[in-house]
Amino acid sequence: MASRSHQFTTHDLTPEEFRELGYQTVDMITRFYEDVDTRPVFPAKSERAVEALFDEPLPEHGESPEAILREWETRILPNATHNTSPRYFGYVMGSGTMMGTLAEALAAAVNMNTGGWKPAPAATEVERTVISWLADLIGYDPDCGGLLTSGGTMANFIAILTALRNVAAYDTTGEGLQSPTRTGRYTLYMADHEGHSSIFRVADMLNLGRDAVRLVPSHDDLTMDTDALETLLDADIENGDIPFCVIGQVGSINVSAIDPLSDIARICDERDLWFHADGACGAVGAMLPELATKYEGLDRADSITLDPHKWLYIPYECGAILVRDTDRLRRSFDMEAPYLHGTLPTAYEGHEFYQHGPQMSRGFRALKVWISLKFYGAEGYRDLLRQNIECAHHLDSLVRREPDVAAIHEPNLYIYSFRYVPADLGAHDSLTGEQQAALDAYLDTLNQKITDVVQESGLAFFGTSAIHERTVLRFSICSHRTTLGDIEDVFRAIQNAGAELDREDRPSLVASHPVFERRA
Ligand SMILES: *Cc1c(COP(=O)(O)O)cnc(C)c1O
Repeated sequence: MASRSHQFTTHDLTPEEFRELGYQTVDMITRFYEDVDTRPVFPAKSERAVEALFDEPLPEHGESPEAILREWETRILPNATHNTSPRYFGYVMGSGTMMGTLAEALAAAVNMNTGGWKPAPAATEVERTVISWLADLIGYDPDCGGLLTSGGTMANFIAILTALRNVAAYDTTGEGLQSPTRTGRYTLYMADHEGHSSIFRVADMLNLGRDAVRLVPSHDDLTMDTDALETLLDADIENGDIPFCVIGQVGSINVSAIDPLSDIARICDERDLWFHADGACGAVGAMLPELATKYEGLDRADSITLDPHKWLYIPYECGAILVRDTDRLRRSFDMEAPYLHGTLPTAYEGHEFYQHGPQMSRGFRALKVWISLKFYGAEGYRDLLRQNIECAHHLDSLVRREPDVAAIHEPNLYIYSFRYVPADLGAHDSLTGEQQAALDAYLDTLNQKITDVVQESGLAFFGTSAIHERTVLRFSICSHRTTLGDIEDVFRAIQNAGAELDREDRPSLVASHPVFERRA
């Protein structure tokens, strides 16, 4: 038996040590923010190089905290991609609020588990407040249910599971998809071009199968053609399928288009379908009164996905799902176990987030959102969102002014795509199919190379995407630090890279394809 005098150890820091290391850490973060505008946005190192840097054995003996913290500046930062930069335009990534950074440290310190009310009274109520504030901000019912999630994918998962649970004609909680009374295939609907890939993942995770996602044709502006939606729904019902959910894009992934939400709401009402609004990147734009007509009908959605880690600039991770009817959400995730709830009621019952979503243990994500919303206020956020939209419009005006780039769509919110096309190559009119194909392939490669060259330069980060299967340069202007000057600098870098690559690459093609001959 162990002796009673055995000394337990916490290996915790002393208060003095913690304070000293904490100040050092704050200094490091401050230096990081001071350089946010000048540091290379992308390290441009191969996986092999970065992997080698971190390939070390697990330490058997603890190391000094000063030495460990030093590695932040020597090993982590030089190998980070900086979405905190004002010239980071990749994917859809928020830029991280400074108050959110402080909140993360505070939340980690208190370490509350927001799975249940008793382990996290304040965190639970802060999260409920945040959900209600987010709803209020976008003109949704502030008495809605909902919770914060790891991101938009999990928010979409929660929404679509809830749709299935509530629309299906039998109890899918108990029987899943295996009920002998099920008569057809469950199907869900989104726009063909701009519908988001996460919906396929959700269909997959729910074992509905990716084929259950039906793609609705789009208009030229890449919004859903709701007449086509009705035709498709009626045909599928006729064929014995069981449509249960329509997903409207609220700010789409390549062009930030907003589907006709009122029409979708009406169509869903008429057929008793669940209307889910995927506003992971765009829902918060509903806080701008000048955009009210675009967002008309959002308040009629049964559920809304909204990612604070995108257009509210909250540090990762933080998504959110809002569900109009809390009971319907709860019905999807309700569970009982004596070790969760105790066996008998006590005086300390409250909102249990584990009954509203798939996670049991959950962090205090709400603190960084709560603190940031209080810090900026709705007014501050409206200013920041308007700046991003103005940047997208400015980029569009540059694109329309210059001869070596082609506009593809009208600017919407903050995601904008265009294509680099050398001026003399854009002027061809009647091409044969083969010539057109050669030209398309050349321009696709050129646009990808421009992207790689600018990324490698460290000046900026943006990606390529495809619109109608042609490679485009895609900008997601989702940083509260981006200015018009940043847009102009990157635009010039694109033009320079494009001209230089075109000078190098084109001559070798002329022999086989005279279409590439340089023309005045
Ligand atoms: C980003 C995005 C998602 C997925 O969100 P994550 O937070 O990356 O999981 C879903 N839908 C749309 C429209 C998005 O832009």
